Amino acid sequence: MTVHWYPLPSRDDATGAATAAFRAAFGREPDGLWAAPGRVNLIGEHVDYQAGLCLPFALPQRTVVAIATRDDDLLRLRSAQLDGSGDTWEGRIGEIRPGSVPGWAGYGAGVPWALRADGFDVPGADVLVDGSVPLGAGLSSSAALECALALALDDVAGLGLATSDAGRARLAAACVRAENEIAGAPTGGMDQAAALRCRAGHALLLDCRDFGATQVPFDLAGAGLELLVTDTRAHHALVDGRYGSRRDTCARAAASLGVTTLREIPGKTLDSALAVVRDAALDAVLADELCRCVRHVVTEIDRVTAVATLLREGRLREIGPLLDASHRSLRDDYQVSCAELDVACEATLAAGALGARMTGGGFGGSAIALVEAADTQTVAKAVADAFAARGWDHPIFLRAVPDTAGERLR
Ligand code: ADP
Ligand code: MG
Repeated sequence: MTVHWYPLPSRDDATGAATAAFRAAFGREPDGLWAAPGRVNLIGEHVDYQAGLCLPFALPQRTVVAIATRDDDLLRLRSAQLDGSGDTWEGRIGEIRPGSVPGWAGYGAGVPWALRADGFDVPGADVLVDGSVPLGAGLSSSAALECALALALDDVAGLGLATSDAGRARLAAACVRAENEIAGAPTGGMDQAAALRCRAGHALLLDCRDFGATQVPFDLAGAGLELLVTDTRAHHALVDGRYGSRRDTCARAAASLGVTTLREIPGKTLDSALAVVRDAALDAVLADELCRCVRHVVTEIDRVTAVATLLREGRLREIGPLLDASHRSLRDDYQVSCAELDVACEATLAAGALGARMTGGGFGGSAIALVEAADTQTVAKAVADAFAARGWDHPIFLRAVPDTAGERLR
C-alpha cells in the first residue's frame, strides 16, 4: 500500500510558478507576490463563533497571490488550482455585493469589498492565485486565499496594516466579512487569525471574545514528536448548511440561558446550565440537540485551556487524551465528524498515536494525530491500510510544523 504525502514546494519554486502563471494569465509582470498559510487547529473546534478559545497554528503550506494593480476599478481573479474549470472571474469592485460573485471567486472578491466597507481605499487588480494548501481539506485554504490577497492589497495601497499585530487583526476581520458575506460561508474568525497572526514554533491561543491572541510555545521537534495530518479527501463544503445549523443551535441554546454566547457558561456550572436548557426546550428531541451542543462548546473551551497550560509547561505528550476527548465530543455531541475522520483517528491510535482528533469544520476534511517522530511512517501506513480495507480513496498525509504567518514573498 503506497502512502501518499503532499509535496511542499520550496519558496523559490512557489514564487517562480506563481509568477509564470501570472504572466500566462495576464500577459504582464506582477507588482509582487504575497503568501498566507493554511492552518491546523490543535484544539478548540466549533467554538470560535461562540466567543470561545482555540489553538491553531500556521502550516508551511501556503497560498500565493501574484497581483498587479489596475487604474480602473476592475478585479480579475484566476486560480492555478482550478485551471481548466475556473475561468477568470472579472468584475468591478464597486459592484460586488452579497450574492453577486459565484463560486470560489467570492473568497477573493470579498476581500477588496470588505476593505472598502471598512473605509480603506484599495485599487483594482489582476490577481493570480496559486499554492500548496489543499482545497476543502479542513486546513483553511479559504482563509489562506483571503489573507494572502488582503496582505497584497494592504501593501500596494500603502495601508500599513500588516506591520503590526493590531493591524493584522483588522485585516483578519475584513477577511472574515469577505468569507461570511461574499463567499457565503458562515465561519468564525479562527482561520483568518491563524493565517495572519501565527508565529513559527508556536500555537496561537485565540480568545474569540475580542480576538486577543497569545503565542504559546509548541516545539514538536524538540520533544521528539510529530503531528501527522490525514487529509481523508472526503469533502463536504461548509457552505452547504450544516455548519450554519450548528451555529443556529448554539445561538438558540445561548438564548434560553440568557447569555449572548456559550462562552459565558463556566465549565463548573455545566450541569445546571444543561438542566435549564432541557427545561426550556419544547420537546425531548430539541432538548437533546441543544444540550449536546452546549456540552460540546463548554467542555471544548476547557480543554483548550488545559492544552495551552500543558504546552507552556513543555508537557506535550500529555495533550493526547485531551485531543481524544475533543474528537469524541465533536463526534458524539456536536455530530460534525464522519466515518472517514473516525477511521483515521481510530487507526492512528491503534498504531500508537498519543492522541487524535478531527480538525477544522468537519463533515470530511482532515484529522490530526500526535505521534512519536519515529512512528510517523508506521502510523500513516496504518491509516492508508484502513482506508484501503474499506475500499475508500487513499488519504494524503502531511507533517504539520508550526510556521510563520502570511507575508510578502517578493
Ligand atoms: P478549507 O478552507 O478548509 O480548505 P473551505 O470549504 O472553507 O475549505 O474552502 C475551500 C474553498 O475555497 C474552495 O472550494 C474554493 O472555492 C476556495 N479556494 C481556496 N483556495 C483556493 C485556490 N487556491 N484557488 C481557488 N479557490 C480556492
Ligand atoms: Mg475554509
